[in-house]
Amino acid sequence: MAIEITTLPGCPFCEKAELIIENDYAKAFWDIHPVNPGHTLIVPKRHVSDWWGVLPEEKVAIDDLVMQMKAILDEKYHPDAYNIGMNLGADAGQTVFHAHVHLIPRYFGDMRVPEGGVRNLIPRKLK
Ligand code: 5GP
Ligand code: ZN
Repeated sequence: MAIEITTLPGCPFCEKAELIIENDYAKAFWDIHPVNPGHTLIVPKRHVSDWWGVLPEEKVAIDDLVMQMKAILDEKYHPDAYNIGMNLGADAGQTVFHAHVHLIPRYFGDMRVPEGGVRNLIPRKLK
């Protein structure tokens, strides 16, 4: 049975209309404050506050767009690497409570020492 796409009035991601790509259950758009050129957000079309509530079919749809966006970003920006990340809960940094995956292209030299990647979430714990 198809998933019903329920939305929340006022949610910026439910109302997001300028899409890069979409499929039945997910959509991708540029982050309004990109960490790097090409920073993309991939979200379920249905309003759900975070990944813990995303349904299996929606996860497949999101993964499909992650893969398609990688191809688009490779062609458009030629990044050297990527980070994929999710902030799940305010104490992990989440500010928009509609589930989303950050796809962040990385470029040689954009950090002096990139080693550790997503491990470097707590600056005072950096080696
Ligand atoms: P979070 O901190 O919740 O993981 O990430 C929310 C992301 O959404 C941030 O990177 C922020 O720049 C982006 N963002 C917030 N509001 C909007 C919006 O209205 N449109 C778009 N495209 N991105 C947004
Ligand atoms: Zn929403």
